[in-house]
Amino acid sequence: MSDSLHAFVFEGVAARGAIVQLDAAWRSLRTLRAYPAAVESLLGEGLVAAALLASTLQRTHGSLLLQMQGDGPLQLLVAECSSDFGLRGTARWSDPIERAPLNALIGAGRCVITLGGASGARYQGVVPLESGTLSQALEAYMRRSEQLDTRMALHADADAAAGLLLQRIPDRTDADPDAWNRVQLLAGTASTGELHALPAPMLLRRLFPQDDMRLFEGRALRFACSCSAQRVRDTLIGLGRNEVEEVLAERGGTEITCEFCGQTYAFSAEQCRALFS
Ligand SMILES: [Zn+2]
Repeated sequence: MSDSLHAFVFEGVAARGAIVQLDAAWRSLRTLRAYPAAVESLLGEGLVAAALLASTLQRTHGSLLLQMQGDGPLQLLVAECSSDFGLRGTARWSDPIERAPLNALIGAGRCVITLGGASGARYQGVVPLESGTLSQALEAYMRRSEQLDTRMALHADADAAAGLLLQRIPDRTDADPDAWNRVQLLAGTASTGELHALPAPMLLRRLFPQDDMRLFEGRALRFACSCSAQRVRDTLIGLGRNEVEEVLAERGGTEITCEFCGQTYAFSAEQCRALFS
């Protein structure tokens, strides 16, 4: 199954995990914009990470947003997974940008994980970006801030993006004190080719041949943007009448293009003024 998320839990080890594999959804996101290779692979990794982290949450949390920002050549990278597993992402950078460790690409900056939904309930966690890779940064964050031992493998190229998450289940102890160490080392043996190409049940059997586990039904992932004309109207109202009037004086109307999907929303001066009457 392509563009899918498979969650699993070990029967005999206090650990659970998930596998995310993207192909068509990732390619359709890439057709919206030409990303330099350095940005593209990190964006793919970010989307996979957002889906993997979202899989560990209750759906009532709403969307999960990863937002990295800094003073390096990669100025901004956003990856979002909605509560029904729609993915979207975008990035801003300054050219030229070459492949480099994460901390060099972002420079002095940070990654914020935001959980939130229509209810407006929010949770934010700040991930320091001192590591060379996104997976290392997220693993360190999970250990330090959430006290959750986590192992994450992330990979993206032009055709596909994939990842594996392994997390120790808190409040449960293993009879074998080395069990967690053993399964997280095994998880680390997943090759890029296996992550991309092997169906989830086969990948799990290949990585953990001696462990019984429960594999939950796969969930479809897709590219989906949550932008809408109503959201743009709300943004214009939020800007305030004076600011919108300034734009109208300059351009006669407003045109806003969604950074995630490229959809353009145009409003005439009349439509803009009607928002404030
Ligand atoms: Zn959009």
